[in-house]
Amino acid sequence: MTPSENKVVIFLGPPGAGKGTQAERLAHEEGLTKISTGDILRDHVSRGTELGQQVGPLLDAGALVPDEVLIALIRNHLAGMKAVRVIFDGFPRTRAQAEALDRLLEDLGAPVTAVPLLEVPDRLLIERIVERGRQAARRGEAVRSDDTEEVARKRQEVYREQTQPLIDYYGTRGSLRPVDGVGTLDQVYGRLVEALG
Ligand code: ADP
Repeated sequence: MTPSENKVVIFLGPPGAGKGTQAERLAHEEGLTKISTGDILRDHVSRGTELGQQVGPLLDAGALVPDEVLIALIRNHLAGMKAVRVIFDGFPRTRAQAEALDRLLEDLGAPVTAVPLLEVPDRLLIERIVERGRQAARRGEAVRSDDTEEVARKRQEVYREQTQPLIDYYGTRGSLRPVDGVGTLDQVYGRLVEALG
């Protein structure tokens, strides 16, 4: 494969904005690999690995896992990829992570293609997250330990302080693509595809 087939999409947006769902569909339709750090970490927690034991309490509290842990995890995921065709969901979440990702991608000759930003007003976000927890419980599925109102508010605060600055980071680089995240899943997906051109 030639480097021109590389494609790197980074989803930005607050917790509850619908990044995971939209990223999943885009990955499926575009033949990209979705790398969701939240899913990877939750998988470690449920398997009780050493990493899972280390990060479990942080996830429960809605706090961020240390940058070094995430950067090592992403480095391992990218290692050995011939063509880099990926969607990042939940990474980077801090400026240090974004800078480390830029360096990793530069080494691979695969610059960031686009950064869709899913925009949803604050008042809808907590509602969505709490509803997601309720629905999962109703279906008898595992409920995320951080999908409670209290922890969701904490996640929102962490997003505002640590992750929101990345909007400027990617905005300055010309890769940001704001997408209105309010509407049906299909409507939002349509806007996303349009924004990505
Ligand atoms: P959300 O629905 O809040 O966007 P995620 O599934 O992406 O949630 O992440 C859940 C939790 O996993 C976060 O609250 C955090 O504890 C941890 N986590 C995921 N990605 C990262 C990251 N890039 N840096 C630090 N912590 C992370």
